[in-house]
Amino acid sequence: FQMPKPVLAVEGLSVSFDGFKAVDDLNLYIDRNEVRVVIGPNGAGKTTLLDLICGKTRATSGSIQFENRELTKMREYDIVRAGVGRKFQNPSIYENLTVFENLEMSYPAGRTVFGALFFKRSAEVLERVEQVAREIMLHEHLHQQADLLSHGQKQWLEIGMLLMQDPQLLMLDEPVAGMSVSERMATAELLGRISQGRSVLVIEHDMEFVKRIAHKVTVLHQGRVLAEGSMEAVQNNPKVIEVYLGH
Ligand code: ADP
Repeated sequence: FQMPKPVLAVEGLSVSFDGFKAVDDLNLYIDRNEVRVVIGPNGAGKTTLLDLICGKTRATSGSIQFENRELTKMREYDIVRAGVGRKFQNPSIYENLTVFENLEMSYPAGRTVFGALFFKRSAEVLERVEQVAREIMLHEHLHQQADLLSHGQKQWLEIGMLLMQDPQLLMLDEPVAGMSVSERMATAELLGRISQGRSVLVIEHDMEFVKRIAHKVTVLHQGRVLAEGSMEAVQNNPKVIEVYLGH
């Protein structure tokens, strides 16, 4: 019997900016079907970690294995194609297009000039748009222009645009910032659904939300893993209380 390999295995990862180690010899393993939340004080290296995984920032040393591929040597675009989706805090949706159009154009075939030229509204694409729209709770808004959506719905639409590409790892930076209470609840359920068959990595500051979504929490401090485990274990860890929760 072999344990299933983690989808993402980060080992000995470091990056320095002018001699300052923003991420310092970091190890992180994430399984399929897992929602992992990374917390930590400002400047802990959370954003830099996500930048490293998606290829926006180049590692100084270490490795990032994703489904048996080494990401540290790959270009950003190829990392997306390998199945890594990243959502930033501000949604980059097309405000003057409908929900349907935003989703449709995010289907992989629409991404290249060649693909776009010969792109047809195939049954396959339509089916995928409908499935994703249901998943992100926007199936009743398919033909609404995106700028008329609520702040929360816009965030879900951007998650939907990532889902159109069927990523195996989805990374989200503070997904509920600025959302209403009911939108937060719905987002927690959404993340639970989309983690099925995938891995989800979230940066989050709202501890109530972390409790709701996290299967496991990783606490970063000064570019290193300070603690890792269940939310409860992490919350009661004296080191964590000292540097983070107790301030
Ligand atoms: P967090 O997301 O946990 O708040 P960041 O990853 O944004 O932390 O930043 C970690 C540290 O690295 C901070 O001290 C920040 O100033 C520094 N840093 C991040 N990116 C750069 C960069 N491109 N150049 C120089 N310093 C950076």
